[in-house]
Amino acid sequence: MIEKVLIANRGEIALRVHRACKEMGISTVAVHSTADEDAMHVRLADESVCIGPPSATDSYLNIPAIISACEITGADAVHPGYGFLSENARFAEILAAHDITFIGPTADHINLMGDKIAAKTTVKDLGIPVVPGSDGGVTSDEDAMRISKEIGFPVLVKAAAGGGGRGMKVAPTEDDLIEALHTARSEAKAAFGDDAMYIEKYLGEPRHIEVQVIADSHGNVAHLGERDCSLQRRHQKVLEEAPSPALNDVARAKIGDIVRNAIGNLGYLGVGTIEFLYENGEFYFIEMNTRLQVEHPVTEAITGIDLVREQIRIAAGLEMSFTQEDVEFSGHAIECRINAEHPKTFAPSPGTIKGFHQPGGLGVRVDSGVYAGYRIPPYYDSLIGKLIVHGRNRNECLMRLRRTLNEFVIEGVDTTIPLFQELINEPDLMNGDYHIHWLEEFLHRS
Ligand code: ADP
Repeated sequence: MIEKVLIANRGEIALRVHRACKEMGISTVAVHSTADEDAMHVRLADESVCIGPPSATDSYLNIPAIISACEITGADAVHPGYGFLSENARFAEILAAHDITFIGPTADHINLMGDKIAAKTTVKDLGIPVVPGSDGGVTSDEDAMRISKEIGFPVLVKAAAGGGGRGMKVAPTEDDLIEALHTARSEAKAAFGDDAMYIEKYLGEPRHIEVQVIADSHGNVAHLGERDCSLQRRHQKVLEEAPSPALNDVARAKIGDIVRNAIGNLGYLGVGTIEFLYENGEFYFIEMNTRLQVEHPVTEAITGIDLVREQIRIAAGLEMSFTQEDVEFSGHAIECRINAEHPKTFAPSPGTIKGFHQPGGLGVRVDSGVYAGYRIPPYYDSLIGKLIVHGRNRNECLMRLRRTLNEFVIEGVDTTIPLFQELINEPDLMNGDYHIHWLEEFLHRS
């Protein structure tokens, strides 16, 4: 069994992993940059090691420093959280070479799904429906034009190495294609050092619906239902809910079974998420994430399953603690990502938190590493916490969300709480009637 886990991350997710470890009787090691000395995960972990200066490249992405921290502390496993090194296959390989367990899937699966062109081809062969588009990459402008005309405009030009909404450009018409391709290509080259591109039909008003999967090394594979992450700004998720207001039990079971079979056939290990766009009753695969996701708590809320605990069990070679037949979905959950950003301009707002009061009560979970007096450093992303509420049904969940948003106090920095307070009164949101462009349209109107 794993005895000591080094948590190669920061913020709320570092704390999240620490909590699961403690409940399993596992010791924790926090690593941190010089900017994070006072962070809660550092304070709560059993041990901590400073691994470098504020810049993430020199600290949270610094593989030699993290390996050294493992050796110094005798950690026998590493949990990468999300972001940073969580989808870095080389990191998983280096850990293996040092006899340290990577709490995540195999390096091969990370590599396969990290290349979105290879991922799409693979899942298509496994029976998962994909967005119509180029079969593989497009190499020349002529190729791109021919394929786009075949599938019909508008099209979306996407980078094989893309992530975080970067390296993606819409071409509404034929006249826009070449410029979109060139812009996206140079963006991808700069951001990922890889300019392989592919083309997809641009779907007009789809929802973003993703399926959580989990598999162990004993042949157990399960899906844990879906999350609806259609509320997005700049292709980034803002609010997530489970189950999706757009699916019924039949549609849920159908896509769940397709995904579960595919993941079983792939021989996948650990937790993963298959992301789809959903339009007119049809699912279209867009990508697979081979890690724990920011929005995993909504799934935990409706299933009662601790996903980090299961990740650790699986990495230790144990069986998952449940089978598909044991999974029961109960009620409804919504997560709001609380960012230290201006609620209208979205300008980052680092600085000192003067006052902090988090909501509580039945069905309320706050995952956050911040506290009164904490100084939010300017070097990392602006997520400072997540509010997750659970109710017996969607209506109860919405009422609870409204109540908790009014209770939440964060003083001293701007946060996105006022945006959610506004959103929670919007009829479309209350009715579950929204798609991936709804939020941008709403922000434009207000
Ligand atoms: P990334 O890895 O950069 O997050 P994804 O492929 O997951 O990229 O897509 C992110 C978001 O971009 C989706 O949630 C959706 O809002 C939008 N998107 C992606 N593909 C399409 C498409 N074919 N049509 C319309 N929107 C899309």
